[in-house]
Amino acid sequence: MSSILTKPTSALEKAMNGEELSFKDGVDLLKNESLFLLGNAANHIRKEICGENVTFVSSYYLNYTNICAASCQLCAFYRKEKDDDAYTLSNEQIIKRAEMAIEELKATELHIVGGFHPKLGLEYYEGMFKSVKARFPNVVIKALTPAEIFFISRVTKNSVREVLVRLKEAGLDALPGGGAEIFNKSTRDKIVLGKCSGEEWLNTAEEAHKIGLRGNCTMLFGHIETPEDVVDHIIRLRELNKKTGGFTTFIPLKFSLENTQLEKEHIITTESPSTYDLRIIALSRLLLANALQNVSVYWIALGKKLAQVALCYGGNDLVGTAFSEEIFKAAGKPNHTTTDELKFLIKEIGRQPVQRDTFFKSVKSR
Ligand code: SF4
Repeated sequence: MSSILTKPTSALEKAMNGEELSFKDGVDLLKNESLFLLGNAANHIRKEICGENVTFVSSYYLNYTNICAASCQLCAFYRKEKDDDAYTLSNEQIIKRAEMAIEELKATELHIVGGFHPKLGLEYYEGMFKSVKARFPNVVIKALTPAEIFFISRVTKNSVREVLVRLKEAGLDALPGGGAEIFNKSTRDKIVLGKCSGEEWLNTAEEAHKIGLRGNCTMLFGHIETPEDVVDHIIRLRELNKKTGGFTTFIPLKFSLENTQLEKEHIITTESPSTYDLRIIALSRLLLANALQNVSVYWIALGKKLAQVALCYGGNDLVGTAFSEEIFKAAGKPNHTTTDELKFLIKEIGRQPVQRDTFFKSVKSR
């Protein structure tokens, strides 16, 4: 790795001049550029594109089932139907949680995801969204990742488009970006089992965008991926967003090791170092630049202190409160916060907190 005093590479100069970076540029930057210069450039570009505001959303995470037909090596959350702690929430339980989320915690968004339940029909999801909207018409339902939508289309023998149209009619407002993991097939096949391919994830997201369902996009890093996998993944998202404009933000998700098969089989023994995490955030900003305005810092996976640093390495959004998050919690990540704490973390690094909605419009704190 080059030292702080090294001159910037031509790729970094291209980024600073507002030129779009190529695959080769991205790989060069991730492998060879000094962290200091990478972070400095990303912070500069973030300032130009997003200014000094740091956004966050008040969201409540609702995991409707942990039963999953897949068995991903990276996952500590899933259970099989026979397991004692397997669950699927009923409509009544979902409404109760929604009441708490909206009335007590003042969430503006319900982030609803779960395992790939092999026996739930479309009616289950339609019933859930209709009941929530009947009770709380103004809450944003951000539910079902492209990976879940793809699975539901296969199980219910409907096309992806038919599933999306029916769920939108039932009240679905936006899609979360999970399940993308890493698109490159040879790496993906080693960490997921029974999930859609990278191409299927991208095609499903594109179908959603076509009918006006926007959503975020993610990448799981810090497992067995190569620099080429990272750059390929981000560029594929960039190219799709240039076509559809359907992504609200990019959220690089740091892999959490505890209780996963990758840990149990000693395939991975430690989580990625903070220096690597910061390189990923900075590179994301440089590769996406104007093609996708928001780069989110997921404090649950990074920890609150590193999340603050990541906001100075290209990030402009702290994602949100993520009340009641269970998936990273299952992999050993504590997740309690409040809107006041998020505001404090942002102010502590000299930036301006702005509460946003799912679509990055500012909302008044309630
Ligand atoms: S990551 Fe998702 S699809 Fe894979 S096992 Fe876990 S819940 Fe199932």
